[in-house]
Amino acid sequence: MTSPQPPVPARAPATARAPATAPNSAAPRYIGSEIYRGSSYGAWHPLRIPRVSTVTDLIRALGWLGPGQFVSSPRAKPAALRAWHDPDYLDALQRAETAGQVSDVIRVRHGLGTGSNPVYPEMFRRPATAAGGSILAGQLLRHGGAIHSPGGGTHHGMPDRANGFCYLNDPVLAILSLRAAGVGRIAYVDIDAHHPDGVEHAFADDISVLMISVHEEDRWPRTGALDHAGAGQVFNLPVPRGFNDTEMAHVRDRLILPRVAAFRPDAVVLQCGADAVAEDPLSRLALSNNAHFQIVAALRPLSPRFLVLGGGGYNPWTVGRLWAGVWGVLNGHALPGLLPPAAQAILRGIRWERGGGASAHRLPPAQLFTTLRDAPRPGELRAAVRDRLARLESR
Ligand SMILES: [Zn+2]
Repeated sequence: MTSPQPPVPARAPATARAPATAPNSAAPRYIGSEIYRGSSYGAWHPLRIPRVSTVTDLIRALGWLGPGQFVSSPRAKPAALRAWHDPDYLDALQRAETAGQVSDVIRVRHGLGTGSNPVYPEMFRRPATAAGGSILAGQLLRHGGAIHSPGGGTHHGMPDRANGFCYLNDPVLAILSLRAAGVGRIAYVDIDAHHPDGVEHAFADDISVLMISVHEEDRWPRTGALDHAGAGQVFNLPVPRGFNDTEMAHVRDRLILPRVAAFRPDAVVLQCGADAVAEDPLSRLALSNNAHFQIVAALRPLSPRFLVLGGGGYNPWTVGRLWAGVWGVLNGHALPGLLPPAAQAILRGIRWERGGGASAHRLPPAQLFTTLRDAPRPGELRAAVRDRLARLESR
């Protein structure tokens, strides 16, 4: 591949540049918090389901949290959030949590109290905790290493408004935190089913941040067109419905890995949303979680620092299994063929009710209780995917 090497950014880092060859042999760290347990956006919202708590419980049950690996996420203070977010918006968000309601003015101005971004009891503290984890991750990675923070990945948040279930934008804050720690060149890779409009808003014109997104075409937020290249370092690949493991392997090997390698990043941030998996109720892609595991494993050696965030994912079993598996992959654990009883019990204990109706539990196929790894979902490599990749390769 003959991609041009973007020059070293002209903008000086805020502090001394971190060592280019930082040691990265320390065990990966997992940033979690109990604030996610029992927190819900409301009975009718896709984010009424447990997600991070399932991951934490699964990796504990599997014996995958060694001494010192769990890091409790701090809650970011408004002063830290102001690194990207508007002070008036942060005030409005905190006031909405305290009051439990918003005015029409605030709803229109800041996108709070809408169907997507409802008023709920932890509506400031929960996203501020995810943001605090991402900011901390940037600091902890100064000298290298790998971190998984499944509560992060809220890639739609805008400076002055909530957007697409995201009240704050922790990936942006993670990148700014890395930069403040002296990390110069950052590759952001996003394999969520939705385009990261908030992150692109922040860095589309910043040549020190390589941005690659693979997302479903014709789906909200309808940004991320193939020909939107930012300052030349933005690679958007919209993919058709039914996008399968074969196609993702092709995208990985022809787009993601060569572009990241050529960029020579000092850090890679992966938004590892779980909503491109076949069972997700909000999108129409057809990956197995093997696609995600393989991308995590392949990106890890490409930079001395690796931050894996969560993101979308609205089927509670596929989300929990996928992100627990990501942690296993980061640690080099073999994923078990059959989960031990304690881990199966966690998955069997999840209830997924339709819009709060107790009468209509959605029950998954049995393998979502008994395994972490999906059966592969190979398929045809369609012309639409091939042709669009060729367009991006030719840039
Ligand atoms: Zn998504």
